[in-house]
Amino acid sequence: ILELRGLTKSFGETEILKAVDLDVEQGEMVFIIGPSGSGKSTLLRCCNRLEEPSGGRIYVDGKDICDPKNDLNKLRQKIGMVFQSFNLYAHMTAKQNVMLALRKVQKKSKEEAEQTAIEMLTRVGLAERVDHFPSQLSGGQQQRVAIARTLALGPKIVLFDEPTSALDPELVGGVLQVMRQLREEGMTMVVVSHEMRFARDAADRVVFMADGVIQEMGPPEQIFGAPQVARTREFLSSLD
Ligand code: ATP
Ligand code: MG
Repeated sequence: ILELRGLTKSFGETEILKAVDLDVEQGEMVFIIGPSGSGKSTLLRCCNRLEEPSGGRIYVDGKDICDPKNDLNKLRQKIGMVFQSFNLYAHMTAKQNVMLALRKVQKKSKEEAEQTAIEMLTRVGLAERVDHFPSQLSGGQQQRVAIARTLALGPKIVLFDEPTSALDPELVGGVLQVMRQLREEGMTMVVVSHEMRFARDAADRVVFMADGVIQEMGPPEQIFGAPQVARTREFLSSLD
């Protein structure tokens, strides 16, 4: 469903992504791990064109997303993104935050947007919190509102960039639980995360990136249990 072909990205003289090839299948949960600065966020950002790729191709559902004929707004509804910082509007309730894009981007009626927002907030376990403001929610709950907001637009793929790294440890579990549930529902997800334990038991596939290339990829048992590449072993042992 998502295909990267020779994806390159440079900032000035520096090549951050060096011809990355990656295929993500429908319903797959792929984790990307790797050292700081290896280009993980840049890769995700290229996938919904928050960054313009310098070269190569990205296909979603067989469609070249860099084709100038493609409408960026539509593209970003197809490829949702969840960030480390949840970026909710403080003066709006959970429900209003989720409704906003539905109203503005998808031009839904108030009633329809409200119904979808309540459905999505229920899906992430916040049925009881729809009328709370962000300041009345924990960080984990705020992140779940952000996930509901992304899901409300009906994406085919959701990209997560370190969704739990801004959270206190005791709040991480609830967010991971929601991601696990999405996987069971068949959502296609690409997740950049330092939660190795979670990657180990939830991922279909783990991609290890370093120095702008995919060094190794495979099932979690391989990457964490029996990495084939020295660079991967080095990285994983640096974490203990
Ligand atoms: P981390 O684990 O710390 O989040 P990362 O793997 O996500 O790291 P990126 O954020 O993709 O790494 O950054 C890769 C490299 O690209 C870094 O060296 C960073 O300084 C550089 N970089 C990222 N964005 C820009 C930008 N807009 N302009 C210039 N350089 C950038
Ligand atoms: Mg990053």
